[in-house]
Amino acid sequence: LVKLLEVSRTTIINAYRLLEERGLIITRVGSGTYVAEPSFINESSATILWEQLFTPQYKSPLSSLLRTLIATPTADETISLAAGMPDPAFYPLSIIEKALVSSKHDLEVSDFGHMTTEGYLPLRHSLAAWQSRLGIQATPDQILVASGSQQGLYLIVKAFVEPRDYVIVESPTYLGAIQALEASGARILTLPPSDGINFELLEDYLIRYRPKLMYTIPTFQNPTGRVMSLHDRQELIRLASRYRLVIIEDDPYSQLYYGQQPPLSLKSLDTYGGVIYMSTFSKILFPGLRTGWIIAAPQVINRLAQEKQHIDLHSNSLSQIILHTCLEENYLINHLATVRMEYKKRRDAMVSAIRRYCNGYMDFNIPEGGFYLWCTLTPPASGTELIRRAAAAGVSFVPGEAFYTNGTKSNEIRLCFATHNEELLKEGIRRLGRIFASGAAN
Ligand code: PMP
Repeated sequence: LVKLLEVSRTTIINAYRLLEERGLIITRVGSGTYVAEPSFINESSATILWEQLFTPQYKSPLSSLLRTLIATPTADETISLAAGMPDPAFYPLSIIEKALVSSKHDLEVSDFGHMTTEGYLPLRHSLAAWQSRLGIQATPDQILVASGSQQGLYLIVKAFVEPRDYVIVESPTYLGAIQALEASGARILTLPPSDGINFELLEDYLIRYRPKLMYTIPTFQNPTGRVMSLHDRQELIRLASRYRLVIIEDDPYSQLYYGQQPPLSLKSLDTYGGVIYMSTFSKILFPGLRTGWIIAAPQVINRLAQEKQHIDLHSNSLSQIILHTCLEENYLINHLATVRMEYKKRRDAMVSAIRRYCNGYMDFNIPEGGFYLWCTLTPPASGTELIRRAAAAGVSFVPGEAFYTNGTKSNEIRLCFATHNEELLKEGIRRLGRIFASGAAN
């Protein structure tokens, strides 16, 4: 360099130091030392090159879709049919207050300190009693309280899935599950949508790929609202038991039924002990409680607790104490009866608004429970394309693509009917209808 540039050795050393000081020298093990590209050079650039320090990450194609969604500007008066949230107007704050006051009598100050990672023992007892009414027999040592079922999913994936392992999911399925699985480096096998499970395909997967686990939402599925029939549940258990397949049953919505009660959970039909069951208070009470639970064999609970210990020691004790009282005092029963009635009215309001304002533009089945209407755009159009026009018109939803793996395109959209009252739902659908009528969907 000294000869080539005709400058002194000291000048080169000084230049190198300056580049180094500015964080522009990149060293890659086994490859060499480089000066950063001009695009990297930025007056405010930090002296630490963060990207070089981060651990490798499996990129999910969904992250870019989600970024687009988040970046799509929405006005204050936008009616969001996107988030899968209960209506804040139904958050039963009076019950929470009552539960807090009545728990106070039984509590020691020390109850507000740390507790066991598996969760507040009285809550695990009352969850066992609650589940037993719903057909699942479990002892407290088979229950782990998680900070929302999203954390439950993370713990399960962390404990079971290594990069390149095969896992099976329904397609489409819950976006948060796809993300957790993709982030683990799993290879995802999909069961395409149909009226029931394609058992031939499932068995083929089991023989050929020996998958680690299958993730399913059998009741009022997110996003489709479908319910797995009792026959399919029994058949699934039979096949899973034959091939020793672990099933993750995610069940946030089964208590939100608007007609007949749904069939028994997979866990209550489990004859081989391979079902790991998850549920949450997020949809039946409110998501800010961040409390969900997992039911599995004690060995599994132990391992998940070890993982959880690394993350947060244990879930929030105040939420657990309050929820224990809510269950023990049966406060949930009345609340559930109220929200079932209200959400049913909302589902019906959304359905009639679609028939009125979007007739011929969307096909759907009426779900018997849960939060969502899964609509196919007719003629076929991309939900992702539609979202920007919808934002301009003051309404939002989640495009179908978000619920598929491997960047699969979709001409579906998911509409949530739980968050707004009937008036607002009607107005949201009317806004959608205006876009269709103006031909802007194509
Ligand atoms: N699973 C499914 C199927 C869900 O729909 C949701 C919430 N959207 C979750 C898990 C996560 O729930 P939580 O708030 O308990 O983390």
